[in-house]
Amino acid sequence: MLGLMQDYQLTVQTILDHAALNHGEREMVTRSIEGPIRRYTYRDLRERALRVAKALQKEGVGIGDRIATMAWNTDRHIETWYGIMGLGAICHTVNPRLFVEQLVYIFNHAEDKILFVDLTFVPLIEAIAGKLPTIQKYIILTDDAHMPATNLPNAIAYETWLAASDADFTWRVFDENTASSLCYTSGTTGNPKGVLYSHRSNVLHGLMCNQPDVLGAISADNILPIVPMFHANAWAITYAIPAAGASLIMPGAGMDGKSIYELLDGEKVSVSAAVPTVWLGLLQYLQENKLALPYLDRVLIGGAAVPRMMIETLENDYDVEVIHGWGMTEMSPVGTTGKLKYSTQHLRGEERVKLKLKQGRTPYMVEMKIVDDEGNDLPRDGTTSGHLLVRGPAVSKAYFRLDEEILNKDGWFDTGDIANIDELGYMQITDRDKDVIKSGGEWISSIEIENTAVGCEGVAEAAVIGVAHPKWSERPLLIIVRKPGSSVSDDEILAYLDGKIAKWWMPEGVEFVDEIPHTATGKIQKMKLREQFGGYQFKAVD
Ligand code: AMP
Repeated sequence: MLGLMQDYQLTVQTILDHAALNHGEREMVTRSIEGPIRRYTYRDLRERALRVAKALQKEGVGIGDRIATMAWNTDRHIETWYGIMGLGAICHTVNPRLFVEQLVYIFNHAEDKILFVDLTFVPLIEAIAGKLPTIQKYIILTDDAHMPATNLPNAIAYETWLAASDADFTWRVFDENTASSLCYTSGTTGNPKGVLYSHRSNVLHGLMCNQPDVLGAISADNILPIVPMFHANAWAITYAIPAAGASLIMPGAGMDGKSIYELLDGEKVSVSAAVPTVWLGLLQYLQENKLALPYLDRVLIGGAAVPRMMIETLENDYDVEVIHGWGMTEMSPVGTTGKLKYSTQHLRGEERVKLKLKQGRTPYMVEMKIVDDEGNDLPRDGTTSGHLLVRGPAVSKAYFRLDEEILNKDGWFDTGDIANIDELGYMQITDRDKDVIKSGGEWISSIEIENTAVGCEGVAEAAVIGVAHPKWSERPLLIIVRKPGSSVSDDEILAYLDGKIAKWWMPEGVEFVDEIPHTATGKIQKMKLREQFGGYQFKAVD
């Protein structure tokens, strides 16, 4: 027997309708690409998103068509995002940090019809437009006054294009399982893979992310999503926050410490979210200029492991709660967050920091477990490591246009991460499975060594890779980028690590480089490092 409740489709435009109707006066503030700060309200946002949808329909766009955006977090980006999805088309957010060959591949693989592009990226697109046969029109996210001279075919300034439309439009009606958005993951090998979200998965994920033990935003909050909309949905903030009615503060292209601080302070931001490198830049700026963060209450940090020093500095010196998060594009992307809970809220000092260094526990709607190489379940004892598998309503079951089975027979997705889970449900990532270091039959966590090493004075960045060793099969090599002006030595770094990590984890060698290679989403490219240090010989082999 089926229940007798209404057949209300969970489509993302209902979020915007709710925000405009019930929090219509709440502001959206944007650091524009042209320079000045721009302000308007959720009511304006909805009106402009409707105009986008109507204008796109006039262009012949319909359900299932892919419309690309290459843009920073701005008001214009979010209105195109909702306009595209409210029409039933698919919003393909493109990461401008991808390599040019990858960009060409994904535009063609997605067969995008139109590209909305920020001024910043016009030269990048001009260089490849000749190789993008499916894109019929380029809409530059600016007004006529700032429109650059460009040879892009059918290029038009966004404001001019939008002015020819009006908001007299009704969102299209379709099934909640309709595809809403597309985001390609940039693996370290092979072509990027398209993760295709649905309206339903985005709505559920947005609600999940705003549970009190995750982001927990209320309408009185001011939220600054620094994590880009082109990197896995800005961690669901663009759905979760309008649903909560909190104010959105969009940073545009200003990712440096000074620009971020100006928004945090000037707009009284209470919650923010970004990867660790952004917080490093901000902390440095705050320390150099002796500034405080009186309004900021909590920050979600993820995408890479949060270093100990960042947790300690933000919590102890700035009184800002750090919420360590983990997830991936295939998970929409949030998988876990590390908030204290009933059984851990009493923890203080070292015990508390140790818990916060873990990637956290799953909210309702994500399931996770660890398994051995044969797929057998492993215990939640906080020490046994295994392959981390997940499932849930906002986890991928296939990639866009790829005939490849990605779930196991029970419907679990292998994240490619190696982790342990403790009795209270807190998970800790120890490595990517392809980066695992096996020494004498035991796994060494490169992430934990890297995390500890960046706490050493003079160290800007650290990476650990496994290098072949005659006795132990592999031993860790620590690769360091020094801070400008620092001459920190290998012995000083090893002395710093001594006592902070297990004895047998101590790096067998330390090498200094000017730069560590990164992927487009800021991950260390360990494969490149392994190539670079292929055939490396440790100095003293016992
Ligand atoms: P992406 O799909 O680009 O967001 O990358 C997802 C991957 O980033 C995960 O599978 C992890 O390997 C890594 N990652 C994300 N968050 C964390 C974190 N808090 N700590 C360690 N690794 C992380």
